[in-house]
Amino acid sequence: MKKTVYKNCTMIDIAADGCLRAGTDIFTDGDRIADIRPTGGSTDGYEVYDATGLFAMPGLVNAHAHLFGTGTPSKVISGGGSQKLVLKLVATPLGKVVLKMLVRSACIQELNSGVTTLRGMGDFRGSDIAVRDEIRKGKGGAAGLQLLVSGPALTAPGGHGDGTFALTGSTPEEFAALVAENAADGADIIKICITGGVTDAKKKGEPGEVKMTAEQVRAACEKAHALGKRVAAHVQSKEGIEIAAACGVDTVEHGAHMSEEAAAALKARGGAVVATYTPAYPYYKLPPSVTKLDDVRVFNSGVVLEGMTACVKDAYAHGVTVAMGTDASCPFSTQYGMWREVIYFARLGGFGMKKALYAATMGGAEALGLAHTTGSLEKGKRADILLLAQDPVKEPRTLSAPVAVVAGGRLIAKPKVKRNKNTERILDGLMEEF
Ligand SMILES: [Zn+2]
Repeated sequence: MKKTVYKNCTMIDIAADGCLRAGTDIFTDGDRIADIRPTGGSTDGYEVYDATGLFAMPGLVNAHAHLFGTGTPSKVISGGGSQKLVLKLVATPLGKVVLKMLVRSACIQELNSGVTTLRGMGDFRGSDIAVRDEIRKGKGGAAGLQLLVSGPALTAPGGHGDGTFALTGSTPEEFAALVAENAADGADIIKICITGGVTDAKKKGEPGEVKMTAEQVRAACEKAHALGKRVAAHVQSKEGIEIAAACGVDTVEHGAHMSEEAAAALKARGGAVVATYTPAYPYYKLPPSVTKLDDVRVFNSGVVLEGMTACVKDAYAHGVTVAMGTDASCPFSTQYGMWREVIYFARLGGFGMKKALYAATMGGAEALGLAHTTGSLEKGKRADILLLAQDPVKEPRTLSAPVAVVAGGRLIAKPKVKRNKNTERILDGLMEEF
């Protein structure tokens, strides 16, 4: 890979409270940032990309996504018998090919929309693992994307994802064995679902119903840690967080109110909370005629939204890392919508754009254990750079259309995504009030 200098940009220094550094040259050599210097010095030996007038920030970290879907609302993921049909389909040879194509396309969309690091948080039959391996070999349109994947999630019978993207176990020994199996199949991380979720809960308040016991969670975490893997847990209630924090979970996904003890336990092991506003907000806010959700799911989405904001507030109060993800593939969560998550976090959560940008970059890198290699623009880190037309703190929507994306040193000069017009129209309408 060649040497390139992104010349005369205004760099957003994420590590220094989003401070703007006008007149900056960012030098990349292969997949790394070789140097960052004030404009005006020598650029000999480097191909020059004139970034005059552009803002440079670190690539986005989508810390929670699923790659098997498009996010276009359909009846499929909202539950019911159609989910089982999808599962039958993906078990056929043709279905496997189609699934792989979907995952590949999702990775390209994510990358072209500015996501340079992504954590796949539950797949069908190891599909993410196969595509990750292709990308690591530099194959396909998503080369440069740093992809960490969990393979299938794990839960107890009747838990979130049972029958679709999750495998189930009952005894602690079974959970340890499932973790070992996922790790042997190539999972980078272990995903467990401790509580229920919005799409599968049948009663009001049930998204947070605890489905895995403390013993099961502990067994999964101990095995994962012994194998050098971090554990991410789907959790949507206070009770669920208590179990997660006490039993060894590293990242709490979605979240709910978190006690001081739980926060301290998470902090002590370098853990994080991962907010995912993108699906919950439209479920809650859009009319049921559009979402096709029943009132139980609408009610539960409200519970989840409130819990998420409470969790992030608790995390900030106790110094726990905060990251974010889109939960892409859920209805209304597209593979090019990380910019919406940033704005939801800033406005809906009320945390503001500076905190949102940090959580979407450094926070994500810390949550994934990658803070030493990505998350900020610093010499020696991966060359993961977004070039934007405007300052995202002042004009957040500039994030929706990066001028260029650099991922692991690979320049995507004209990043393009295929947007679903109808979904975008609905989501834009929702954002008008921000
Ligand atoms: Zn998820």
